[in-house]
Amino acid sequence: DNQIPDYGKEDKILVSIRYIPFLVLRDRDVLTHLSAFALRPSTLSAPPEFHFGEVLTGSENKPVYNAVARSHVCAAMEGYNAMIFTYGQTASGKTFTLSGNEDQPGIIPRAMKDVFAHIRRTSAREYLLRCSYLEIYNETIYDLLAPPSVAATQPVQLIGQGILSPLREEVVTSLKSVREVMERGERHRRTASTDWNERSSRSHSVFRLVIESRERGEGKPEASGRQTPGLRPPTPGGTRLQTIGGRSVQMSVLSLIDLAGSEKATSDKERTREGKYINTSLLTLGSVIGTLAENAAKNKTDHVPYRNSKLTRLLQPSLSGDARISVYSGFAARIKRVQLHAKKKEVVDTEA
Ligand code: ADP
Ligand code: MG
Repeated sequence: DNQIPDYGKEDKILVSIRYIPFLVLRDRDVLTHLSAFALRPSTLSAPPEFHFGEVLTGSENKPVYNAVARSHVCAAMEGYNAMIFTYGQTASGKTFTLSGNEDQPGIIPRAMKDVFAHIRRTSAREYLLRCSYLEIYNETIYDLLAPPSVAATQPVQLIGQGILSPLREEVVTSLKSVREVMERGERHRRTASTDWNERSSRSHSVFRLVIESRERGEGKPEASGRQTPGLRPPTPGGTRLQTIGGRSVQMSVLSLIDLAGSEKATSDKERTREGKYINTSLLTLGSVIGTLAENAAKNKTDHVPYRNSKLTRLLQPSLSGDARISVYSGFAARIKRVQLHAKKKEVVDTEA
């Protein structure tokens, strides 16, 4: 009945937050994590009741992808920004869910397969795909596609709303080229860490796919000289549809995020006791989502603390603006399903 079920340690509990996407929680203490992550603990005056978008049991990756991720990938192909986070304690299966292995590909490879299938089916549009792969560690952003020596000495800067520089974006044209890009990123990530386990549990990795497309057909000559849509600036700030050469151009970003381990960032109490471990980005993500949800539910305009962390600044265009967001948010003893609808902008060339 959409209520929290009895669950065992091995069960996979999936909370769907569409467009602020979904959380994969495989922890024992799901309530603690949920309340820390999605709600402000102070708003909880009674034991919370949780409603889930999806609850999946079993260990396979395929049902996870089909139940929640696929719809986000479709949305991204249709011009909406979409995001998927995996959230949970270290060793709870975040990386397995997102990346998977040969036998059980995770969300990223399955998503890319669907992206290319969508492109093959959609003969009326032409596409340009660019990927980037980043790591946020101790509030510094590293470009995993740059050579490690460059990445270490030239951290990526946020120079505008979600705009990053310097950042490598690789044009990908096939599943094979995506795999190569991912492998390069993974290799660089390992090279960068002296203690791989420590670093991977404390850092966030962000895989971003920028999807640009435009209608095929007879455009005006100045535009048809290019094979790809010529959006400027090329870095995504949300769903955009522009018209170039008489054709509708759209751009969206699919962000697939493997978050740092949640074990040391569950509550304020935990923080003061631990002292040494404060994952600013993880904590801020929790309060940003909490504030967005509360604003939407209560029709408020409380300040959303995007600027308090690198991760939330990076994702601000997708979290705010014209992404469609649906979050589960709690007030006292009830969790309400809240939807923030955004308008999908369409600019139609009047001359065409
Ligand atoms: P995290 O990224 O959350 O720290 P991992 O994804 O690395 O955790 O998972 C920890 C270990 O458990 C890995 O060896 C991984 O292969 C294994 N594992 C996680 N989830 C599953 C699953 N659903 N089925 C089989 N093995 C899994
Ligand atoms: Mg991991």
